[in-house]
Amino acid sequence: MILSVASGKGGTGKTTVAVNLALSVGFCQFMDYDVEAPNAAFFLKPDIKHIQKVEMKHPYFLKEVCNACGKCAEFCNFNAVAVAGDEVIFFPELCHGCGGCLLVCPEGAVREKDVEIGKIKKGFSKPGINFYMGDLKPGYMRTISVQAALDKFIEKDILIIIDCPPGTSCPMVFSVKDSDYCILVTEPTPYGLNDLLISIEVLKDMGIPYGVIINRDGIGNDEVENYCRKNNIKILLKIPNDMEVAKYYSRGESMLDYDISWKGKFENILKEIKKDVRK
Ligand code: SF4
Ligand code: SF4
Repeated sequence: MILSVASGKGGTGKTTVAVNLALSVGFCQFMDYDVEAPNAAFFLKPDIKHIQKVEMKHPYFLKEVCNACGKCAEFCNFNAVAVAGDEVIFFPELCHGCGGCLLVCPEGAVREKDVEIGKIKKGFSKPGINFYMGDLKPGYMRTISVQAALDKFIEKDILIIIDCPPGTSCPMVFSVKDSDYCILVTEPTPYGLNDLLISIEVLKDMGIPYGVIINRDGIGNDEVENYCRKNNIKILLKIPNDMEVAKYYSRGESMLDYDISWKGKFENILKEIKKDVRK
């Protein structure tokens, strides 16, 4: 089963939920798809055994052949190439590696080479977690390329927990696309409800079953809970707004470290989810 953990905005406790679920279940594959800001390793403390580069094709320009006609810059929709005077200027962070500039150059002045845009790190966390994370190189906008590289390591016949990037844009959609179920983590505030509604629309469109975890329960109002009850959306868990939990979090410790009774609560979430999964 592939179980993704998502949230409409950052800072709602998505990684807290994903990590504590993995530690409670014990035996699973954990995938950190939040490749722009991966932080699950801070809590799971994996012993990283293998690091693999993620590469993509980038163009380079042969100055001695180029006649500065500007066709490459005209073609590039991402503004990754500009021509100033008789010189081609390339902005690698903006390049999507489409290879178009190579095709349109009439002089054959564009070539390609592999460049590193990120890394996949693989390791092991106690008690029995196969840990994988994507790590996008700062400045590069190739989030999905790194996520696609992670996709290749998804195992079969094991529980897979995916820590998704926040929001509802393409990287989140890519992360949840193969999920059997998605946990949406939110806060009981008007902003939390607003972001939750957007996330629900995305999952409905994709036909993915979902349930809600309300984090920092007690800080706002009842609107999220009332909405879920009215619309028969399962509230899987409410995590109280607790300063002690926050202190453990800031030290990279889990909720189970704080209070082992959370293990049973997260195990129960999994039992509830299994009733609703699509396969
Ligand atoms: S490979 Fe594509 S995105 Fe990159 S510079 Fe060339 S045209 Fe632009
Ligand atoms: S299209 Fe080719 S020849 Fe024209 S500016 Fe670009 S690299 Fe130079």
